[in-house]
Amino acid sequence: MAKKKENQSKAVKWDYSPAPESSSHINMKDQYELFIGGKWVKPSSGKYFDTINPANKRKLAKIAYANEKDIDKAVKAARKAYKTVWSKTAPAERAKYIYRIARLMQERAREFAVIESLDSGKVIRESRDVDVPLACNHFFYYAGWADKLEYAFPNRKVESLGVAGQITPWNFPLLMAAWKIAPALATGNCVVLKPAETTPLTALKLAEIIEESGLPPGVVNIVTGYGDTGAAIVNHDDVDKIAFTGSTGVGKIIQKAIASTDKKATLELGGKSANIILEDAPIDQAVEGIVNGIFFNQGHVCCAGSRLFVQESVAEEVIEKLKHRISSLIVGDPMDKNTDIGAINSKEQLDIINRYIKIGLDEGATMYQPDCSLPKSGYYCRPTLFMNVAQSSTIVQEEIFGPVLTIQTFRTVDEAIEKANNTPYGLAAGIWTDKGSRIFNLANKLNAGVIWANTYNKFDPTSPFGGYKESGFGREGGLQGLSAYVKLK
Ligand code: NAD
Repeated sequence: MAKKKENQSKAVKWDYSPAPESSSHINMKDQYELFIGGKWVKPSSGKYFDTINPANKRKLAKIAYANEKDIDKAVKAARKAYKTVWSKTAPAERAKYIYRIARLMQERAREFAVIESLDSGKVIRESRDVDVPLACNHFFYYAGWADKLEYAFPNRKVESLGVAGQITPWNFPLLMAAWKIAPALATGNCVVLKPAETTPLTALKLAEIIEESGLPPGVVNIVTGYGDTGAAIVNHDDVDKIAFTGSTGVGKIIQKAIASTDKKATLELGGKSANIILEDAPIDQAVEGIVNGIFFNQGHVCCAGSRLFVQESVAEEVIEKLKHRISSLIVGDPMDKNTDIGAINSKEQLDIINRYIKIGLDEGATMYQPDCSLPKSGYYCRPTLFMNVAQSSTIVQEEIFGPVLTIQTFRTVDEAIEKANNTPYGLAAGIWTDKGSRIFNLANKLNAGVIWANTYNKFDPTSPFGGYKESGFGREGGLQGLSAYVKLK
């Protein structure tokens, strides 16, 4: 595999003393049941599966495996709650519940952050400073809309849909649950949510908070399981809307499954986003933005800036600085506050990333990986750069979902736009330049749902998020996130 590996950069790496976050304050059960109709119920099959800590492969808890019967129970509980309580609850009262959930989450923010990092492998800095605060803010934001829907949609009559089936991925487990549950509740819908099988714990913690908040039983039901559990939600006749975030492959299966029904859907799918550095960009800031865009969070970000395009005149400088910078990144224990790149979420995902790294080498690209040490147990991957790639290279075209960046150069802005748009995806893009006019020019021509200028991976509950082409359809977040959960008349 090392046939085209480049020489190491001479970056000096600082030795930090370990600074592990304590997990002594968290309250985690050994076994979790299904949260249906406000009660914790055993799965009808009696089956459970393990969720593990990918940083050391140790088991964290046993999780109930829901089948079609359990999903039917959850959908019935949601429908009953919708008909008897939630659709009759005054909007201002709905808002109070959502605010209460947000405040309870905030109070237990540290516990959420630790559990998120243990279950997903993401660094504690990210869970603590990004995932959990953003998740709380989504609840706060949508609580504010609950009694103002007539202003969100002026001159229209707003009706809720009924029961929303929601399916989330493993990369932002709590945040994705918040993106989905908060607008659904604000608009008067009831929910059956299934988190990803490798990261169910924070959604189950959220279920505990929902229980504590006094939300009427059945308004939110949280069920756990694998893809077949998700499929049972998608195929249930009494679900009015499917909100799915995950891979494009599964998104396509879902779209086919609901094609002959009147279910509403939002699909937030994969990405292969371009980060474009023009020659007048502030180079040091841009290098930091590139690192933030792909390497933090192990590249487990749907909108990761996984394709870098650098204008030829500054390419050498950018690549040298980038190599130097990634050589100082610390790959290791997600619970250590110094760690920059935590654990890959699962063995399956690490195998996928390694397979793509091999494909990159086999297709003749030049790889650079810093010579950093990796923990002995657990799933880890070094930050990886690939140079000398072609537009048609597999690693340029396909989503890898790991800390792997392909680097291409361009001469003119038009060439950058053409290359950036030459992908089946259209989720996000980054533009780095000193000139506002260039930002507007590029932003107008790039086929991407979200475009950042002189920054990357910035999120806010007030901003809609979503993609074009094979990155899906529909928007989550902001005012637009409400419209996915209402009928307008
Ligand atoms: P995945 O598609 O494998 O799984 C996502 C969820 O769908 C899981 O809960 C899974 O159990 C469930 N599922 C699997 N098969 C199903 C089926 N046939 N029917 C219904 N549900 C099914 O995705 P993943 O590996 O968990 O997540 C990574 C993917 O998610 C990446 O492609 C990433 O880009 C994407 N993602 C997109 C966004 C976005 O907003 N666009 C955000 C985060 C992640």
